[in-house]
Amino acid sequence: MDRAVIFSVGFCILVVLVVPSVLVRGCDFKIEPREQAAGPGIKVFVVATGKMVEMPLDEYVRGVVAAEMPASFGTEALKAQAVAARTFAVKRMRQFGGPGCAAHPGADVCTDHLHCQAWISDDELRKRLSYLEYYAYARKIASAVESTSGKIVTYQGKPIEAYYHAASGGSTDNSEDVWREAVPYLRAVSTEFEAREPSFQQRVEFTIDELEKKLGVKLRQRKVRTYKVAGKDVQVVAEERMDRPIEVLSASRAGRVKDIRIGDKIFSGYSLREILGLRSTKLTYQVVGDKVYFITTGYGHGVGMSQYGAQAMAQAGKTYVDILKHYYKGTEVTSFAGLAPRQ
Ligand SMILES: [Zn+2]
Repeated sequence: MDRAVIFSVGFCILVVLVVPSVLVRGCDFKIEPREQAAGPGIKVFVVATGKMVEMPLDEYVRGVVAAEMPASFGTEALKAQAVAARTFAVKRMRQFGGPGCAAHPGADVCTDHLHCQAWISDDELRKRLSYLEYYAYARKIASAVESTSGKIVTYQGKPIEAYYHAASGGSTDNSEDVWREAVPYLRAVSTEFEAREPSFQQRVEFTIDELEKKLGVKLRQRKVRTYKVAGKDVQVVAEERMDRPIEVLSASRAGRVKDIRIGDKIFSGYSLREILGLRSTKLTYQVVGDKVYFITTGYGHGVGMSQYGAQAMAQAGKTYVDILKHYYKGTEVTSFAGLAPRQ
């Protein structure tokens, strides 16, 4: 009996403590950045450290995919993201005639997602994930980048401005309806795939005071009211909320606000979204008493590829080429001669 107890305890220790530690040590996995990434070097200004780092293009692309798209997404969605990220970078790289990052002289791109593309290092990805997640996802991301290496999206033979956003909220928009400039391949698309995205509805509340302060506008006006007091007219002047404090002046076909009047000022949908930190310009509003509610649909600027739309297409069995050609109209996915691995 005693022997059986000792054996059971020993077995438990083996199963609970020893075996996992051997397994974990046995599969110590790490992507080796410089060995596995090929192609030309890109100068990246890393905002988190304030330093410029030069790295192989595909190492940079891996870090963008890791930062910009959930690695749980389908393989074809990750491949589409890798090609979009590579194209975005090539368009800016000075060795291919691009302008570099306008915010950081000397850099091809920066890691500020509001300016260029988000990027995280392999070590940062490791920190963000559990061991098993890292093991699975780092491999998945690396394979999406390697299997599309050298591929970019072109329009009439030139790399495109490969803009993308999280979710279109049902339909993307023409570039000129969001940023004024018309780009032939950044067209509004609306298909069954967009309908399968999560809608990301969000309701954000502001008081009239908050909006006045954040936007530098006046939402109140002097109003004169006349009251009958003891048979006489008495006039009272008071600051009251405008009857129509907000008015959408123009919107895209997909419903993104282009111009909106708030109090005594006019804003573009783009700048309103920036100032108030809204998820999208696809918005409606409600004014109730002293409160204003903005209700947004989708996530991001709504131009180019929708990442959740890409995931919906991947789940429906579409390839990364189908996804990219759906969101970037009239384009091709091609091997870019400048990106052949260095000998
Ligand atoms: Zn930048």
